[in-house]
Amino acid sequence: MAGEPQSDCLFCKIVAGEVPATIVRETETTVAFRDINPQAPTHVLVIPRAHYPDAASLAAGAPDIAADVLREAGQVAEQEKVDESGYRIVLNTGSGAGQTVFHAHAHVLGGRGLNWPPG
Ligand code: 5GP
Repeated sequence: MAGEPQSDCLFCKIVAGEVPATIVRETETTVAFRDINPQAPTHVLVIPRAHYPDAASLAAGAPDIAADVLREAGQVAEQEKVDESGYRIVLNTGSGAGQTVFHAHAHVLGGRGLNWPPG
């Protein structure tokens, strides 16, 4: 069923505490933790506790939680003090776009110059 934990999902395991992560913020619906392979001085992933494979399916199936993820991304940027210099929220969707973990997540990247267009 949509939103239910998946036994083979890495981020569901982080939500369950079965895989360790450096958690920086938590809410009833979301968890934010540091990326294991940071691409910027601040690189935090914000995920819904509920399992949806990508951002679009999250927005379609649980729009309130999708809004929570975006709100938390902004809160992470503030907490990490990258909000004033500017930061990027990235939602890779599909393997062709670089998505490697199929549990919706927002990357929050900041603390260095960020070029456009992204690679
Ligand atoms: P994607 O490529 O799907 O947009 O992003 C997945 C992200 O998850 C990558 O940036 C990758 O470094 C991160 N990641 C993969 N495995 C782990 C892990 O076990 N712990 C943490 N904290 N991050 C992970």
